[in-house]
Amino acid sequence: MRIHLLAGALLIPTIASAERAAAPAPGVDVRPPTIGWMGEASVARPGTKMQVIPPVPGGDVIAVPGGAPTIIYMNKAGVTLTPGNNDARTNRSTVVAQTSTIPAFEGSAAEWSSIMTCVRTIFQPYNVTITDVDPGNVPHFESIMGGRAQQAGMEQGVLGVSPFTTNCTLIPNSIVFTFTQSTRDAYGTTAGLAEELCEIAAQEIAHSFGLDHEYLASDPMTYLNYNGLKRFQNVDAQCGEYSARACGLPGTGVTCSARQNSVTLLNQRIGAADTLAPTVSITSPSNGAVVPTGFAVNADAMDNLGVTKVELWVDGNLVDSRTAAPYTFQLTGLATGGHSIVAKATDGNNLAESTINVTVQAGAPPPNPNPPGPNDPSDPDGNPDTDGDGNGDIITGGCQTGSAGGAGGILALFALVGLLRRRR
Ligand SMILES: [Zn+2]
Repeated sequence: MRIHLLAGALLIPTIASAERAAAPAPGVDVRPPTIGWMGEASVARPGTKMQVIPPVPGGDVIAVPGGAPTIIYMNKAGVTLTPGNNDARTNRSTVVAQTSTIPAFEGSAAEWSSIMTCVRTIFQPYNVTITDVDPGNVPHFESIMGGRAQQAGMEQGVLGVSPFTTNCTLIPNSIVFTFTQSTRDAYGTTAGLAEELCEIAAQEIAHSFGLDHEYLASDPMTYLNYNGLKRFQNVDAQCGEYSARACGLPGTGVTCSARQNSVTLLNQRIGAADTLAPTVSITSPSNGAVVPTGFAVNADAMDNLGVTKVELWVDGNLVDSRTAAPYTFQLTGLATGGHSIVAKATDGNNLAESTINVTVQAGAPPPNPNPPGPNDPSDPDGNPDTDGDGNGDIITGGCQTGSAGGAGGILALFALVGLLRRRR
């Protein structure tokens, strides 16, 4: 439920009027030409802006299905930026005109957690990894979350800004800003502030994917009020701030398209999320087994793209995890009696789990670490294991691996935390 308070004015100074600075010292980046700024923000009417820049090499991308996820780094730690072509790996930004330091996120850990959950919810349908741990020197987008606009050399009242290309294409490794302290100054710390900050960040991030403002209140690209969490909409919407216009740069004769569909563009630029859950099964012990107080648990997990982690849970408690096969876990010191053992596998986007129940009895023989079963990797035929070929065949009764099945998304739904309403 984003509340924009600004008028949709657009300022596009002529490129020719750009100053010619003295030649920079060797090794010093200069800020590429800013074509103009879209949006309007003031102390009286806080809002967001886009910095219009020329198209960037590599911006005309088409996401490869099943490709590596786009990394979005939610930076709450503060950063020092130098002017230059946008590059989150080297902290260069077209937005800053001089070396600028944005301080760390000033809010509480709980507020930050809400923001992360919210941003993940908004981008859940897409092939992204959203992290608040600096990914380092690998390609990534960066959403700086902190400070005030003035600390980036922008005027007071600006709550967020992203670069945006004249042809509405992606800016690889772009850096965008959500001025969290400015937003807090404008709205106060309320229950809804995390969602406000999340929606500003989502809009700024998507500007760097080439999405313009949309004249559709339910979409994060909008300036319009909306009662509820904004989500990218699969709607051919008109662009615009407070009135409809073509997408791109109004008033210049240069437009990108008559309408914009956020979902279509995001699927094209960063790709859809993988929706195929992994499969996982506990191959030993078998379900219902009587086991000693210490024994190994073996699990198999597979995924169309790759299993990123398998966790072992005993009686509802996480006890161990593996990020690569073999998914073998050693348990020791279990109390006698019944226990539930769950293996949870994720591909980073989807979750699956397999449950067995065992009975611990002191002195019981250890479970066969490689019992027959349909997921036995030594079974080459892939058939249910009653075919007598000697590979993974069921030779005794009662051997049953736990069922693998999708267990729903990892993401908890972002709880709506009260309504933030500011109207003037
Ligand atoms: Zn914007």
